[in-house]
Amino acid sequence: MAQIRTKGIIIRQTDYGEGHRMLSIFTEDCGIVKAVSYGAGKSRSKAAASGQFLCWADFELHSKVNSDIMTVRSADTIDAFLPVTEDIKKLSLCAYLADITYGILGSGNPDIRLLHIFLNCVYALAYKNEDMAKVKAVYELKMMCAEGYMPSLTGCASCGEGEPYAFDLERGGTVCKKCGGKNTVRLDGALYRALSYIVSSEDKKMLSFTASDDLTERLGSLAERYVLTQLDINPKSLAYYKTMLKI
Ligand SMILES: [Zn+2]
Repeated sequence: MAQIRTKGIIIRQTDYGEGHRMLSIFTEDCGIVKAVSYGAGKSRSKAAASGQFLCWADFELHSKVNSDIMTVRSADTIDAFLPVTEDIKKLSLCAYLADITYGILGSGNPDIRLLHIFLNCVYALAYKNEDMAKVKAVYELKMMCAEGYMPSLTGCASCGEGEPYAFDLERGGTVCKKCGGKNTVRLDGALYRALSYIVSSEDKKMLSFTASDDLTERLGSLAERYVLTQLDINPKSLAYYKTMLKI
């Protein structure tokens, strides 16, 4: 049996028997772990307050030999990001971001860089009233960069010679006019510059740019299609987020 103290943010929670919750926590030291929080399903319990989706806390976890599932011994909330959890649209966006994070990282792989990118996005939604579509696009692209899918934005990813004309979602890079295939997105100067900024900026400055609504929409469409194409996924949480945007 081992005791672990680590900071983490809850990226998924499901009911686990009467009054208990199964949490997926993206931790600093152990990556994404599963942990049962006893009593977290009972309203007014201390565990309930620190057992909610997006709660960033100092956790004391207990692991058993031969089990992947830990137990939450204690959790001291650092930030519950209430402006996000009390807003159904922001909440559904974060559920999608959490989903793709789980999808790309899996469990048990520590990744402080990705954790901080995720936290920065939740923070920007909660306290900077940052545009949701922008946060979504930036997270999608930065997550891909952090996990080995950094887009190549110089020259042509196919012939190696032509000037960037479109972004090829399958090759993960720019291609020239001659090489542009089916699964490509046409790039203009503004879209290319925004894409380059996000890919090359320091993580903490990744949201420090302005973009028109039209540009944000085109950037968002490219980023989303890039994630779905490369990871070959179609998460329900994305469809749910889009439904929420319409209400
Ligand atoms: Zn080419």
